[in-house]
Amino acid sequence: MIIDAHLHCTGDENAADVLRSLDGAGIDIGVLLAPFLNNGYTMHDADSLRQANAYLARLVGGHADRLIGFAVLNPSLPGVVDDLQRAVDAGLRGVKMVPSGWYPYDDAVQPLFAKAAELKLPLLFHSGIFIDGRSGRFCRPTFFEALRDHPGVRVTLAHLSWPWTDEAIAVGLIDRIHGVPVEQLMFRFDLSFGPPPPYRLDAIRKALDVLGADCLQFGSDCFFPCSGAHIAERRRWLEDLLSELDVSQADRERIFCGTAATWLGLQQPLKPLVKPRRLFAGLDDASAGQPQPAGWNLRFCC
Ligand SMILES: [Zn+2]
Repeated sequence: MIIDAHLHCTGDENAADVLRSLDGAGIDIGVLLAPFLNNGYTMHDADSLRQANAYLARLVGGHADRLIGFAVLNPSLPGVVDDLQRAVDAGLRGVKMVPSGWYPYDDAVQPLFAKAAELKLPLLFHSGIFIDGRSGRFCRPTFFEALRDHPGVRVTLAHLSWPWTDEAIAVGLIDRIHGVPVEQLMFRFDLSFGPPPPYRLDAIRKALDVLGADCLQFGSDCFFPCSGAHIAERRRWLEDLLSELDVSQADRERIFCGTAATWLGLQQPLKPLVKPRRLFAGLDDASAGQPQPAGWNLRFCC
């Protein structure tokens, strides 16, 4: 079972395309984020986000075994608590937020966090710098410690918070020091990149040594529509790094499935793929072979 815990919708995809790409990359379950960067969708307008979340709910509808839709919400906008309930009622199962113009410790954003905790929803935050030039000053890992005011919430900070990976590891370490059981950990970190290639091995080694694989999960950060080969390439980047670090099979299974499954509240493995796994078989996709950035995820920004 492989979970890709960080995939972007743009408004240009359909469910069949998405499932075909996941199949091509050997991904069983994808966490899909509502569009907020493309096609006029923006996270700074409540109506836009409502439309984006409704769009995603329609896309994942009927595919609950493979596709987990995350609403994108801006907790600083009026009416956002009601928007969260509306998204959940429509079938979305988590929330993605991007601190920009608000800090995670702001009083104004706490009501949404409280509602998400009440609904026991997994939360994914952008953390770290933005590569598109927006200020990353809202997204430092320690700012997310404010989530501790909402016990029980399950948080993933994306990109291992690069360039503040040490700070992120420190935030995650607190629960580990106090022996909090894995299923009750507040903070997890996705290994969508994140750190540029020269930093990756060192960052992942430190995160594994300090936090362990139970705090780390795979996310390709790909934008649909994309080929299975494109997702598989991102997966291979991480596989290769884990091989360099001689990471055990048990820890690999946590990184590619177990950590995200716990975060998502999946109590047991969902229906497995019917067809045989075709690891990295996306090379037979129609779009395979198209040039992709070598080792750099130039589109990552959230
Ligand atoms: Zn992203």
